[in-house]
Amino acid sequence: MASNSFDYDYVIIGSGFGGSVSALRLSEKGYKVLVIEKGKWFKPEDFPKTNWDLRRWMWMPSLGMQGLFKLTFYRHVAIVSGVGVGGGSLVYANTLPVPKSEFYNTGHWKGLDNWQEELKPFYSTALKMLGAEKHPYMSRSDKAMQQLATNWGRPEAFEKTDVAVYFGKPGVTVSDPYFEGKGPERTGCILCGGCMLGCRYDSKNTLDKNYLYLAQQLGCEILAEKEVYDVVPLTEDGSGGYEIKYKDSLSYFPKKGSLKTRGVIFSGGVLGSINLLLKMKEASLPNLSDTIGTGIRTNSESLIGVTTYDKDVSFSEGIAIGSIVNIDDSRHLEPVKYSEGAGFWRIFMAPMVQGKNFFIRFFRMIKDFILHPVNNFKVFFVDDWSKRTQILLYMESIDSTLSFKRNMLGGMKTNLDTGPAPTAFNPKAQDIAHEMEKIVNGKAMVMSTETLFGIPTTAHILGGACMGKDVDSGVIDKNNYVFNYKNMMVCDGSMISANPGVNPSLSITAITERAMSKIPMKRDNPEFNPVDMRHAEIIPVL
Ligand SMILES: Cc1cc2nc3c(=O)[nH]c(=O)nc-3n(C[C@H](O)[C@H](O)[C@H](O)COP(=O)(O)OP(=O)(O)OC[C@H]3O[C@@H](n4cnc5c(N)ncnc54)[C@H](O)[C@@H]3O)c2cc1C
Ligand code: SF4
Repeated sequence: MASNSFDYDYVIIGSGFGGSVSALRLSEKGYKVLVIEKGKWFKPEDFPKTNWDLRRWMWMPSLGMQGLFKLTFYRHVAIVSGVGVGGGSLVYANTLPVPKSEFYNTGHWKGLDNWQEELKPFYSTALKMLGAEKHPYMSRSDKAMQQLATNWGRPEAFEKTDVAVYFGKPGVTVSDPYFEGKGPERTGCILCGGCMLGCRYDSKNTLDKNYLYLAQQLGCEILAEKEVYDVVPLTEDGSGGYEIKYKDSLSYFPKKGSLKTRGVIFSGGVLGSINLLLKMKEASLPNLSDTIGTGIRTNSESLIGVTTYDKDVSFSEGIAIGSIVNIDDSRHLEPVKYSEGAGFWRIFMAPMVQGKNFFIRFFRMIKDFILHPVNNFKVFFVDDWSKRTQILLYMESIDSTLSFKRNMLGGMKTNLDTGPAPTAFNPKAQDIAHEMEKIVNGKAMVMSTETLFGIPTTAHILGGACMGKDVDSGVIDKNNYVFNYKNMMVCDGSMISANPGVNPSLSITAITERAMSKIPMKRDNPEFNPVDMRHAEIIPVL
C-alpha cells in the first residue's frame, strides 16, 4: 500500500510524557502525526480550585466527572494517574529527579546497553525541554525535611528538587523564556501548593506548554476526547500499516471512527497501553510477546500523611514537592502538599498501624482510637486538612514486580509476579513517619484502604511492556520497537524496565527522547514516501 493512502505517518495513542516527546520529535523529522487523547483539553481556569470539586477534578466520565485525576483500585495496589491533553503532567507534582546508578543496571533491560552513559545526553535534553529549575524557596514542609536529615546527622541528604515550574516573578507574565520565543507565555509561580489539581496560574510547565505546543506548530494534530479501542494491522506484521479504531470518550452513546496510519506509538501510560495491548493480544495483535503485562513495578511506594495539631502552621505554602531526602542510594523521601482547602483525602484517612491480616489491623486501629482519643479527634476534625498535613512520599528501588492480566469483565487484574508483593506497611517508611510526627507535632495517618485491606497506593505505576533481547524476554527491543510488528513502538511508563526508585517522568521523557533520536528523518526513511514531505526544512528546537 502506498504511503499516501494513509491518513497519517504516525498515530500516537495518549498525550503524556512518552506521547508528547514522540509527537514533537516525529513532527520535526517531517512525519505527519496525530495524537489521540481520551481526556480533555484544559485551560488554566478549567482546573478545580479544590479537590472537593469532584466534577472538575476526577476522571470518571460515566458519573459525569470529566477532570484530570484518575483513581483505580486493584487487588494489590491502588493507582493514581492523570488524564487529559498533557497526560500525567497536568496532575503531577513537577519533580524531576535523575535516578541513581542501580536503575540502569537492574531489571529487564539490564545488559541491553550501557544505560547510564547512553541516557546522559537525553536526561539533559529532557530537563531543558521541561524547563527544570532548582526549587528556589524553602517552605514549611522543606524545613521539616531538612530537620529530619539533620536529626540523622546527614544534613547533606536534604536537597531541593529540580522542578518543571516557571518561577520568575510571582504572578508576572513574560513571553516564552524557554524556546527562543517559539513557546507560550509563562507566569511566575505564586507558591499556592495546588500543582496536583492543575495549575490555575499558568506557571507549571505541563506538556501542552512545551513538547505538544511546539509539535502543533509543526503541524502535529491532537484529537482530544477520543479513546482508541483497537489497532488492526493491515498486513500480518504491520508492514502495510494499521487501522486505528477510536470512539468518543465522554458520550454515553459514543460515536466510532477509524483511520489509517503507517506507524503507531502506544503512549497511553501503563493503565492505557497495557490494557489495550493485553486486549489486542487476544485478537488483532496475536504475535505480541507473551511477556505483555509482566514486570509491573510500583516504585515500592508509601504515602503517609502527618497532620499537625498546631493551628498556626501551613504546609500548603510552596510547590507540591520542593525537596527530597536521599535516605540512601535506593531509598528516597519527598514532602508532598495540596493547596489550602483541598482536603478531599481526609475522608479516607485512618490511623497508621501494622499487622498481618485485616482483623489484627482493625483491632489495632480501634485500639489507637481508644488509647489516643484526643489526638484522633484533633486530626479527624482539623480545620483545614490540606493546610495542616505534610504528606510523606517514600520510594524504594528494591525490585519486586506484579503482572496485569485480563479479567472476566474485559478490564485488568493484578497478580504477583516476582519478589514480595508491594506492601502498605513498609517499616522504614513508618519509622520515618513517627519521626516526622515529633518534628511537626502531629499524627501519622494513611489511606484506610492501606490500613484495612493492606493495599498500597502508587502514583508511579511502571512496566508491563518491558525491554528484552527477543520476543521471549520482552515486548519491545532496546529502541522501543514492538517485537514481531513493524513501525509499532511503546513509549510511556510501560517501557520502564527497572525500578527507578524516584519519580519517573523525567526518565520516561529521556528514554523516549533516545528512542526518537534513532528514527531517521522522513526523507531518509525508505519505508515512508519521500514525496509526501511537509517540512522540507526542519529546524530542530534544540
Ligand atoms: C498525583 C500525581 C503526582 C505525580 N507526581 C509526579 C512527580 O512529581 N514527578 C514524576 O516524575 N512523576 C509524577 N507522577 C507520575 C507521572 O504523572 C507519570 O509517571 C507519568 O505521567 C507517566 O507518563 P506516561 O508517558 O506513561 O503517560 P501518562 O502521562 O500517564 O499519559 C497517558 C495519557 O494517555 C491517555 N490514554 C490512555 N489510554 C488511552 C486510549 N486508549 N486512547 C486515548 N488516550 C489514552 C490518558 O488519558 C493519558 O492522558 C505523579 C502522578 C500523579 C497521579
Ligand atoms: S504552586 Fe501554584 S502557581 Fe506554582 S506551579 Fe503549583 S499550582 Fe502553579
